[in-house]
Amino acid sequence: SAPLSIVRGAGEAAEKGVLMRTGEAFQGYRVVRQIAFDKTGTLTEGQPRVHEVEAASGDADALLTLAAAVEAASEHPLAEAVVEAAFEAGLTPPDAESFEATPGKGVTARIDGANVLVGSPRFVTESGVDLTSIERQVSELEDKGRTVIVVVRDGEFIGLLALGDAPRGDAAETITRLRDAGVRTVLVTGDNERTAARVARDLGLDEVHAEVLPGEKAELIRNLQTRGRTAMVGDGVNDAPALMQADVGIAMGSGTDIAIDAADIIILNNRISNVAEAREISSEGYRKML
Ligand code: ADP
Ligand code: MG
Repeated sequence: SAPLSIVRGAGEAAEKGVLMRTGEAFQGYRVVRQIAFDKTGTLTEGQPRVHEVEAASGDADALLTLAAAVEAASEHPLAEAVVEAAFEAGLTPPDAESFEATPGKGVTARIDGANVLVGSPRFVTESGVDLTSIERQVSELEDKGRTVIVVVRDGEFIGLLALGDAPRGDAAETITRLRDAGVRTVLVTGDNERTAARVARDLGLDEVHAEVLPGEKAELIRNLQTRGRTAMVGDGVNDAPALMQADVGIAMGSGTDIAIDAADIIILNNRISNVAEAREISSEGYRKML
């Protein structure tokens, strides 16, 4: 059975809204050298909003209608934001046919007989569409921390949307607390380099890995582990393999069931500062035990 101080520490953590699944998690977390954080829904609220709609034709409503028609079938947080923006503008997107999602990149569908693609600038460029005319504008938006998604109809660029997702109020403070405790903090995201760099700079993370595809997150954790014990904090379906690979997996309580099942520690109240708090409690519990 677990030493009393560990049990007491776990109880203290639970009172703060941190569920320690196992005694190993509690002891293992104390000696973690670095913590990898997912961005969307973990360091940020996970409720992006559409901030800008720029149509090549000048008809922003038509662009938003078309984008929402494709995104209606997607469950991605960005897709939900686009559908919400269309709804708020009183628009009625038409039905989509043959919807297809490419994880970490974007979505395609047929709308009123046209092939429509909505996704990251990189995905759009890879699909053979030339985006040099908007390169500058995209970079500027991304440097501000926006995530840009591009809309293409029958191979032609027709506009872009800029979305933003606010960092959680206690995210910066959490990163500072961990750094002061000697823990290295790493951002791991599917989002683009510029947006990721801006978020990392604003919050003070030590290292950034951007444009990490959903299937690559666990491999990245394995690489980080060659430097020392590594925890991973996430919320998405995509994060589950990385949470299992990490020495300690931590899930946000607002996260998907799959992420929660994969985790050793669950932050029930979604307060990211509890990632630092739990580490302090586990160190404290250990000291009491000695
Ligand atoms: P994250 O790690 O932030 O959860 P994802 O791996 O899910 O990111 O997605 C990475 C990028 O792929 C997004 O920033 C976006 O540019 C693009 N993307 C993914 N799904 C969609 C979608 N449904 N609509 C538009 N873009 C998408
Ligand atoms: Mg996420």
